[in-house]
Amino acid sequence: MMDDQALLRFSRQIMLPGVEIDGQERLRAGHALIIGAGGLGSPVALYLAAAGVGRLSIADADAVEISNLQRQIAHQQADLGRNKAASACESARALNPECQAIAIDEHVTGEALSALVQRADVVLDCTDRFSSRYAINAACQAAGVPLVSGAAIRFSGQLAVFDPRDPECPCYACLYPPDESGDEALSCAESGVMAPLVGLIGSFQAVEAFKLLSGAGLAHTGLSTFDGLSGQWRHFQVPRDPACPVCAKRGA
Ligand SMILES: [Zn+2]
Repeated sequence: MMDDQALLRFSRQIMLPGVEIDGQERLRAGHALIIGAGGLGSPVALYLAAAGVGRLSIADADAVEISNLQRQIAHQQADLGRNKAASACESARALNPECQAIAIDEHVTGEALSALVQRADVVLDCTDRFSSRYAINAACQAAGVPLVSGAAIRFSGQLAVFDPRDPECPCYACLYPPDESGDEALSCAESGVMAPLVGLIGSFQAVEAFKLLSGAGLAHTGLSTFDGLSGQWRHFQVPRDPACPVCAKRGA
């Protein structure tokens, strides 16, 4: 049960219809796996910790560099050279000491990735490599764990939620068939990215994870894209691909 301090801390959420005490308790019992502690992972980690998610596992193998600080707001000047997962966990705990934030300071693949995904209630893909995105998607589909996927580059970003528990819901590979996208992922290092854009998309990811964990509202469906230069949002329906190599065998 929540003590008086927790009731006070989360009072502005507990008063929300659809959240209330039960939803706040579900957030506290929830476990989010955040893969990537960069531009997207930073707002995701900070907002989920602040909102009262009880457990965060944050994975990132990289160290904080000076060029990251323009947008990766979980890290500070004093964190230069530190592992990003460790730095983000410290920022999450500084916001909410009750949050159990566990750093994984390696690039997780294969069985290690599967084991992490199986223990999570929701997975947030905050990476910027296609190979990572496909591996995370496959692990989530295999484990039946919902995936909140975000991407941001230059002035534009996008969001999609892939929930294998919903028979109608596509997966990442339905949206981006692996043979069509190749291995040519655009990276912020090569293409640049506007600082607040990653905050916007990462916050959108945190909104979806919040709903999945608390039980409030309905999950986002399809694909949302945002063009920062025009300020335009667009929404696309994404059908499930019956020939998808990843999810076609899933029960329909
Ligand atoms: Zn699929």
